[in-house]
Amino acid sequence: MIRLENVHKTFGKNEVLKGINLHIEQGQVVVIIGPSGSGKSTVLRTMNYLEEPTSGKVIVDGMDLADKTKLNEVRAEVGMVFQNFNLFPHMTVMENLTLAQKKVRKLSDEEAKKVGQALLDRVGLADKANAYPDSLSGGQKQRVAIARALAMKPKVMLFDEPTSALDPEMVREVLDVMKSLAYEGMTMVIVTHEMNFAKEVADRVLFVDGGLILEDDTPKHVFEAPTNDRTKLFLSKIL
Ligand code: ADP
Ligand code: MG
Repeated sequence: MIRLENVHKTFGKNEVLKGINLHIEQGQVVVIIGPSGSGKSTVLRTMNYLEEPTSGKVIVDGMDLADKTKLNEVRAEVGMVFQNFNLFPHMTVMENLTLAQKKVRKLSDEEAKKVGQALLDRVGLADKANAYPDSLSGGQKQRVAIARALAMKPKVMLFDEPTSALDPEMVREVLDVMKSLAYEGMTMVIVTHEMNFAKEVADRVLFVDGGLILEDDTPKHVFEAPTNDRTKLFLSKIL
């Protein structure tokens, strides 16, 4: 579903990705861990070309993202959820959910609202269609953001530290929605520090440091028997 071949990314003189090779099968749940500034977000953002690699290939669902004629098609298949929700503040929850469906998927208002309401039910926010984002808690906002991404019927969901901005009591409600998606077979790539979530849900854990993937294995192997000293050091700080 996702293939990165020798992906490099340089900002100015700063080489942030130094040759990322990665192959993610349909239905896999992959968690990315690593120190701050190691390139985790940049890796994720190359998967929908929010960052264009300096060199190397990104292929999603068989489409090479360097092919600009395919880019919009691919982007519609790849949902992304950010740390800070990125909801449109001047729109209601339902307007947030229907905008792209109408613009990109060309659904009627009625069709789009039907999809939106079903997704609100699913994330436990059936009564919030007419609320504005500012009136919601962080956990509710993030569940709306997930619903908004799902409204496009993506084949892949990317999550960049989706619970990092949340108060602790709201982390669970967001992780539960993500878990249910994983169990339904969604292909997911998740940057997170939630190690229990990774142990329970991930098929693979990648440890990224200095713009390289230093570990790529099952959660059990990476957490209990990491091969790289930098992984051991990182885990000793966070576990
Ligand atoms: P992580 O998500 O692991 O914390 P990032 O991928 O965000 O790391 O960033 C990796 C490095 O790339 C950092 O040194 C960061 O400052 C730099 N970087 C990221 N995005 C940009 C950008 N748009 N312009 C310049 N430097 C950037
Ligand atoms: Mg980041």
